Amino acid sequence: DKVQIKTALLSVSDKTGIVELARALADLGVKLLSTGGTHKAIAAAGIAVTDVSEVTGFPEIMDGRVKTLHPMVHGGFLAIRDDEEHVAAMKAHGIEGIDLAVINLYPFEEVRAAGGDYPTTVENIDIGGPAMIRASAKNHAYVVTLTDPADYPELLESLKADAGQTAYSFRQRMAAKAFARTAAYDAMISNWFAEALAIDTPRHRVIGGVLKEEMRYGENPHQKAAFYVTGENRPGVATATLLQGKQLSYNNINDTDAAFELVAEFPPEKGPAVAIIKHANPCGVAVAPTLVEAYRRALACDSTSAFGGIIAVNSLLDAETAEEIVKLFTEVIIAPEVTEEAQAIIAAKKNLRLLTTGALPDPRIPGLTAKTVSGGLLVQTRDNGMVEDLDLKVVTKRAPTEQEWLDMKFAFKVAKHVKSNAVIYVKDGQTAGIGAGQMSRVDSARIAAIKAEDAAKANGWATPLTHGSSVASEAFYPFADGLLAAIAAGATAVIQPGGSMRDQEVIDAADEHNVAMVFTGMRHFRH
Ligand code: 5GP
Repeated sequence: DKVQIKTALLSVSDKTGIVELARALADLGVKLLSTGGTHKAIAAAGIAVTDVSEVTGFPEIMDGRVKTLHPMVHGGFLAIRDDEEHVAAMKAHGIEGIDLAVINLYPFEEVRAAGGDYPTTVENIDIGGPAMIRASAKNHAYVVTLTDPADYPELLESLKADAGQTAYSFRQRMAAKAFARTAAYDAMISNWFAEALAIDTPRHRVIGGVLKEEMRYGENPHQKAAFYVTGENRPGVATATLLQGKQLSYNNINDTDAAFELVAEFPPEKGPAVAIIKHANPCGVAVAPTLVEAYRRALACDSTSAFGGIIAVNSLLDAETAEEIVKLFTEVIIAPEVTEEAQAIIAAKKNLRLLTTGALPDPRIPGLTAKTVSGGLLVQTRDNGMVEDLDLKVVTKRAPTEQEWLDMKFAFKVAKHVKSNAVIYVKDGQTAGIGAGQMSRVDSARIAAIKAEDAAKANGWATPLTHGSSVASEAFYPFADGLLAAIAAGATAVIQPGGSMRDQEVIDAADEHNVAMVFTGMRHFRH
């Protein structure tokens, strides 16, 4: 299963390490073939290399669109070396075997990320490169395919240790990586089309991405994990800059995303907002005239749970807020921007991870979310519904007061980001109690109320903030019991989708307690 490498074809856009590799291969007596730019780089280093056009007998044409798409190249990659017919075909057409393909592709992802215009991005769809990668990787019984400069040293080591030969297991591993590369590349192209054409249906898109990094472990230490980026043009954890702190863990990335997507529901023009997240659920969200005040109010909701949490802010992170944040153990801060002063304050906490994104993601923009099930992938469009766009309908005798309107809209925005069943009490722009992830809506209402009582004790308040609060339920009340639990906790106004068979019973219960209730007509399940 050992294969001697006699001829190699090098065609790379990312020229990292290519000259060193070419030199080492030449020293081992390997004949080098190459395309225009790669040929130039190798030849400039004084290494003997043949232009692939000499092999094909055809010049590179159409701005490089056609350079290696030729039977002399693909026959060289695909021929089964010990098949009589294949060997006869090679002889008949003068095809020489190519035993090593070193290829990386036109930088489609980089051009897309840099916001390249339509024609430029299209021009950066590599055609010949993936064809060669796939051809050589298919024939891994005889051919080695390298698509990543990180693998050059391993090839050279094995060639040196084994008299210019490679082992089958190595070729298999490189082939697997090669197909992962072309699959990810095509997924990126498909994603770009979807974005450019505003295609918002899972059916016409491919979920896929490019490996960004491997984490030390997954959700638990015995699980392995990696982070893939889809190239989506959306500010967030995938494209954020890590200004300080350790690499993010799997759970950090998950929670940070939840935090940032939640806080992005609050446009900075309308004032500062802060979300504190634990295990992908918020344990405090608040808006206030200043960011530091928003932080204090968010923290007041559940300062016990906030320990070791993730903090997202919707606007420039300033020194005052940073001072407050560093008083408590926090895992990650994510912000659109941070002042130098604030950064200096955070620097005192070496392990605290600080991420900036440059901007907030638009909650209205379409996109896909996916989760795996046994043997499948469930894909849906992102929940980009927003309460502000909805026709809210007052269904009770009493209409909400101005403050209740504000608080219920706030609560419904938060509810969208809380695991179902979600019940959120809000008072004067801050969460008073959050009930998350319960199997019963009544339990969520009760748990949130208990947490609000705890918060009152912790903060020295005479009464919990649920008294006189507005409450949101992310899905309808199937019975009046959930509503009654919220009323018992002190809620005076309710926002919920409506649409239950027993809506009238729920409305009657609200009227009986002089509670104002609003229907959104939209549900925000999050499981
Ligand atoms: P070079 O810099 O050597 O001129 O070009 C290298 C790039 O061209 C590589 O990224 C490789 O994948 C790509 N490539 C090689 N052959 C072809 C081809 O026939 N058509 C296209 N579109 N790209 C090719």
